[in-house]
Amino acid sequence: MSEQAASPATAKPLPLEALPDRCEVLIVGAGPAGSACARVLAQAGVDVLLIDQQPQGRDKICGDGLIPDAHKALQRLGLLEPVMSLAQHVAHVGCIGPRGGRIDVPGTLAVLPRRQLDQLLSQAAREAGAKFIAPARFEKPLEDEQGRVIGALLKVGDALVEVQSQWLILATGAVPKALSAAGMCERHTPSGIALRGYVRAPSMVGRIKAMDVVWSQAVRPGYGWIFPAPDNCFNIGVGVTDSHSAVGGKGSKKELNLRAIFDAFVASYEPAAQLMREGELVGDLKGAPLRCTLEGARWSRPGLMVTGEAAGSTYSFTGEGIGKAMETGILAADALLAGRQKSWSEGQVREAFEQSLRALKPKFDLYQRANKVNAFPWLADLLIWRAQRSPRLLQRMSGVLNETSNPGNLVSLKGFSRLFLE
Ligand SMILES: Cc1cc2nc3c(=O)[nH]c(=O)nc-3n(C[C@H](O)[C@H](O)[C@H](O)COP(=O)(O)OP(=O)(O)OC[C@H]3O[C@@H](n4cnc5c(N)ncnc54)[C@H](O)[C@@H]3O)c2cc1C
Repeated sequence: MSEQAASPATAKPLPLEALPDRCEVLIVGAGPAGSACARVLAQAGVDVLLIDQQPQGRDKICGDGLIPDAHKALQRLGLLEPVMSLAQHVAHVGCIGPRGGRIDVPGTLAVLPRRQLDQLLSQAAREAGAKFIAPARFEKPLEDEQGRVIGALLKVGDALVEVQSQWLILATGAVPKALSAAGMCERHTPSGIALRGYVRAPSMVGRIKAMDVVWSQAVRPGYGWIFPAPDNCFNIGVGVTDSHSAVGGKGSKKELNLRAIFDAFVASYEPAAQLMREGELVGDLKGAPLRCTLEGARWSRPGLMVTGEAAGSTYSFTGEGIGKAMETGILAADALLAGRQKSWSEGQVREAFEQSLRALKPKFDLYQRANKVNAFPWLADLLIWRAQRSPRLLQRMSGVLNETSNPGNLVSLKGFSRLFLE
């Protein structure tokens, strides 16, 4: 797979003349959050304009792993089948501890390069009736005299263009520039950082079958991963969440050198070393920030809602965020549609949206607490050692992954103490 070959045929961007001067909902960012929101709204007949600062068919630095919440969101969008027809199907998350112990947690999983996934999602928003203009960059919101957001100033080519809208949705991901311009950013530093590369290695196909996540002293305070992707390729990377605070004395942003952590991961984990020896790196290793735990930004202000990773919708500990980005995009759309149907005030719509995010927050907090495993990898040894001996514990871990049981039981202090009792 060359980086070029990974790109599906890209539809032609709409010309500047196609940019309307008003719309009902203007969505900034055509990642999973923005495209999911646009598709749900457009399917309900809302006049939606979706924009992205990058050209269509853009890549996103990611591990490309689709965990069960992503499957659920894709199902809701009516896109599970087309995504799964392109994706590499995977049956387990492999958890590997510092002493080499391993458990395979069953789950509904898949891997699809983001270039393909995001292209499919934005295309699906268009098919539902949303207009999509890219590249077009959000510069700042337009406001009325009371400070309510009534649209946005966009940069399209060399032109600055005003678009009026009843609602503005920011789905701009982990880079906080747009959040700041809209007065929504509460924390500029990311929650974490991660780096990934693609390796084509036909000889490793069938040898690495699970989405392997590896904890070790070498990658502390983070983790490494190898995910099998389509076309004889693997997504390999390392991530550190909680990089803005010094976890376990190591991990402050200044001290982190992801490339060095990646090299240490490859040197310390034999399957990673084998993959790099036998395979061919496709494109460069690339890093990107993460925003986690539904923190770091305000969720709404009059006329504006923030969804996806811009609102911090990525899980700490694992760095998974595609599913929750789509889910929070859909929640914003649902709040708007409910408001339309029930003639809610602007404030009621935002309250409904914020309420749905608050309902998700406890789960995000538990993933935040689970970061202990990244800081103290021997905890992974302990969990793996116990799960190897307790089918019930393994079942609970699978329940957490599949979102059918509460992760609190597993990652709270009480949960750790219970490890010895079942
Ligand atoms: C290395 C790495 C590995 C990861 N691995 C996984 C994984 O395996 N599984 C998983 O579930 N999650 C993973 N994540 C997290 C996942 O990538 C994010 O949670 C997800 O991309 C968030 O989606 P989003 O739609 O909110 O934002 P994004 O996908 O970042 O999309 C935001 C979009 O907004 C656009 N934009 C930004 N500013 C502007 C502007 N001013 N004007 C116009 N457009 C703008 C951007 O161009 C971008 O297209 C990983 C992250 C990293 C960094």
